[in-house]
Amino acid sequence: MSVLHVVSVSGGKDSDATLLLALMRYPKARVIPVFCDTGNEHDAVYQHLDYIELAIDIKITRLKANFDQQIARKRLFIARDQRTGRDARGRKLRWSNKAKRRALAALHPTGNPYLDLCLWKGRFPSRTAQFCTQELKRDLLVNYQMDLIDSGHRVVSWQGIRRDESLNRRNAKKFERLNPHLYAYRPLVDWTAIDVFAFLKEQRIMPNELYFQGMSRVGCMPCINAGKAEIAQIAARFPDHIARITEWEQKVSAASKRGYSTFFNKELHDSRKDRHIYAANCIDEVIRYARTSHGGRQYDLFASHIDTNVCASAYGLCE
Ligand code: SF4
Repeated sequence: MSVLHVVSVSGGKDSDATLLLALMRYPKARVIPVFCDTGNEHDAVYQHLDYIELAIDIKITRLKANFDQQIARKRLFIARDQRTGRDARGRKLRWSNKAKRRALAALHPTGNPYLDLCLWKGRFPSRTAQFCTQELKRDLLVNYQMDLIDSGHRVVSWQGIRRDESLNRRNAKKFERLNPHLYAYRPLVDWTAIDVFAFLKEQRIMPNELYFQGMSRVGCMPCINAGKAEIAQIAARFPDHIARITEWEQKVSAASKRGYSTFFNKELHDSRKDRHIYAANCIDEVIRYARTSHGGRQYDLFASHIDTNVCASAYGLCE
């Protein structure tokens, strides 16, 4: 039984450093970098993965979730829905005929994992229902590792997690036995972001170019958890991604029972329910909000006039 080292890579600095550390300790044949493609990535992520493959001469395994079967089952469910009764808020459980027609016209697989997941669920994920991480990344990676275990290997899952990244991660363990054949190893738990950049520089590996364009992290473009400043940078630098999210909001809204769903759920300035939340949270409104200061009351001249030709690194990388 051989031990395989599966390194989860995202195109970000921490996973780059983790992969380099794995290769310093183990032969290439036992190190498997794996990237879970959400379909909501910036092109710079794919370019960076290609660069890493060339720079360290290794093949990155790319995985993509598929929701065709779930969408097919949901279509059947909607078409046959004859339920009676009401939910806790007094709304009818059954899909109305109008909503059925609208949803069935919109609910078809597109081949994009992120969009198909949201079409199937009839909504976008949120901070309190963050099903994107599980469905688009965690489950794919766990299944991949379980297949390796089923074929007779033991697996060490290398994860580029740092304790200072967030409160959730402040107690992350460096080494953990997850089951008799699967272990988690997190070599960066006590590193800082600055340590990681210094290590990459020492190893002559360029960090993802998104760090020079105002992004503090590399992941979905955008991530549902993106902060105000990051959303303003994305709107200024990558308007095509905002246009894509606008299109996705229309498609997911059409496939949802309520008829609306928004990518961000910031609960901005409108505490009223239903369509008012849509109006306050749709992508155009969130961008307007991101360009304001003082809790959304004042227009922020800096946020609305970001010079996209100038490097802007949240880590002070642009000298
Ligand atoms: S990066 Fe953000 S949007 Fe993407 S899977 Fe993770 S939490 Fe969800």
